Amino acid sequence: MTENEILDIFRKHSALLEGHFVLSSGLHSDRYVQCALVLQHPDAAGALCAQLAANLKHLGAKVVAAPALGGVIVSYEVARALGVRSLFTERQDGVMTLRRGFSFAPGEPTLVVEDVVTTGGSTRETIAAVEQAGGKVVGVGSLIDRSGGKVDLGVPRAALVTLDVKTYNPSDCTLCKSGTPAFKPGSRPKK
Ligand SMILES: [Zn+2]
Repeated sequence: MTENEILDIFRKHSALLEGHFVLSSGLHSDRYVQCALVLQHPDAAGALCAQLAANLKHLGAKVVAAPALGGVIVSYEVARALGVRSLFTERQDGVMTLRRGFSFAPGEPTLVVEDVVTTGGSTRETIAAVEQAGGKVVGVGSLIDRSGGKVDLGVPRAALVTLDVKTYNPSDCTLCKSGTPAFKPGSRPKK
């Protein structure tokens, strides 16, 4: 798939909107990404994750791990494409933890995947949880990289789509100054 074909899948399911949005941080942005809207469709999720898996296959991972909830479907579908197992980490008392009896063989090569990488914070926490449990993280993948490729996690990284999403303080927002109204994520943008 080309990047345009991938973007078309996101746009078709309204998972990538262009306009003027109020993010959960309160900042304004010209783009809004909601991967759950595309991942709710198993055929689209399978196709996107198979492409991500193809981009990461050379790393030789035997396990795919992701932080719950956002990464779980991505991990499962990437693992299906690679023919390996999928597990997830979750927060317990604020700390990213491996629960439910999930475990790694010592040094087991592992991919950490996400739906979206923004600052890399939850990815770093997941890498730490995997390595604490004895796995070895050999790479990171995400459907979307919102950092413009700037996040460095110390291992090879792949994203299907790399976006340099502009964010603005509401008091100094170029889009507000142009007079277009801002929409909150979850509400329906006007066509
Ligand atoms: Zn604005």
